Amino acid sequence: MKFGEFAQKKGAIDHEQLITALKVAPFQKRKIGRILRELGYLTPKSLDSLLLQYMKTTCPYDLKDLKVFCRSKIIRFGALLIENDGKQTEYIASEFSDILLEKLEKKHSDDVRLYLVSENVIKLLLGKNHLDKQSNEIFVSSDLSPDEKIQENDPFSKLVANCFKDAVKSNCSDIHFEPFEDHYLIRFRVHGQLFDWKAISKDHIEPINNKLKWILGLDLAIVSQPQDSRASFATLGCDMRVNSIPVSCGSEKIVVRIQYQDQILSLKQIGLDQQKIAILRKNINKPNGLIVISGPTGSGKTTTLYALLEEMDRQGKNISTLENPVEKKLERIVQSNISSERDFHSFQRALMRQDPDVILLGEIRDPETADLSMKLASTGHLVLSTVHANGAREVIDRLTNLGVDKFSIEANLNLSVAQRLLRKICPFCKKPSDAGFKINKIGCKRCKGGVIGRIAVIEYLEREDIIHKTKPTTLAKELEKLVKNGVIDCSELEGMA
Ligand SMILES: [Zn+2]
Repeated sequence: MKFGEFAQKKGAIDHEQLITALKVAPFQKRKIGRILRELGYLTPKSLDSLLLQYMKTTCPYDLKDLKVFCRSKIIRFGALLIENDGKQTEYIASEFSDILLEKLEKKHSDDVRLYLVSENVIKLLLGKNHLDKQSNEIFVSSDLSPDEKIQENDPFSKLVANCFKDAVKSNCSDIHFEPFEDHYLIRFRVHGQLFDWKAISKDHIEPINNKLKWILGLDLAIVSQPQDSRASFATLGCDMRVNSIPVSCGSEKIVVRIQYQDQILSLKQIGLDQQKIAILRKNINKPNGLIVISGPTGSGKTTTLYALLEEMDRQGKNISTLENPVEKKLERIVQSNISSERDFHSFQRALMRQDPDVILLGEIRDPETADLSMKLASTGHLVLSTVHANGAREVIDRLTNLGVDKFSIEANLNLSVAQRLLRKICPFCKKPSDAGFKINKIGCKRCKGGVIGRIAVIEYLEREDIIHKTKPTTLAKELEKLVKNGVIDCSELEGMA
């Protein structure tokens, strides 16, 4: 029996009223009960009491099931979300109303069921957290750690856990969770290249996004603003930095950057040869001066800087860093996280009074920082930093543009390095070509898409080279060598002078 007939049979409306409502219904595409309410034939209260008799509003799950299904404690308008991977979206609440149901329906594209449970059940499920019925959409976080959260037993937690495990296993650097109009795509970036991990039905966009946001510490109530957060997973051996932005299909794209905790690579692991390592070591053992590493985003500048800090005498020296953000935690090194430029300058001034021997400044990008790094370098400190420039010689131009005079550069710049990070070809499936070897994108069982890792390549100028304007060992020459030895794809030489 349809709801309209049911309402008439119960005597809540008469036949005329039902006919009127049915005439309106096809145009409004709304539920008949709501039309009856809007036409004034039913009061909200009488509609709710009729719906309670008409719909199956008794919760079909027992408390044991609910404890599992409601673990993430997602609350909307006072109703608690059930996450059981059923075909429809289900909520429980201690009071039933059609207005509440309507609000919930607006949040989901699929069928929404609202079940009635006693207030005690809600209290038991929420523990010490209380349910705020006034709030339009809130999320009550539980006290679980990120590690405990991914070990939850519901299907979406399992999916996220599997995704994270696979990502770590394949040495993935970023995971992209991308909602589209008709599907949801999860992709991994491995060795700089994106691969599809899984395509999922669009119905699961919201539950997966909510689960991710919950696990990674983002606020579930915020969907129309970008957000950042981070979480640390002992079980996976990595930290994750997460960022969400609203996208056109009404959902959010979430990107997770993975930072492997045990992965502070040594200079050798970065792929540098003995001669380059010797040059770098010689320069980090000097008591003062400036070492600058340049290169495009993703060229591994920070990795090299960390490798240099790892090589230093951390017992005998006071080493401090100002970073935006701190990417990896280093033992016996005082690391400060700087979020704004204003902070950066005040931290710099404060740091000078803390008697550091070695200072790492995340990036020299404004005249004030350039000036300060020169001052530090000339007053008995060893300063390590990065600048945005394409080559070792261009570093000097960049510093000049930031207002540093030629004399200061020649007096303080001990070493200027330019770095690139290149994909290493899998030796088992590489394809020969006229100019050398090419990556076989299909790959083999020993690699991912024909790539087995990455290698850093540097060119450098030491103080004497800078003063005497000697030509450095160029990146192009280094790349030629690697192409000749079949280590990198021959197309990497294109565009190199
Ligand atoms: Zn291979």
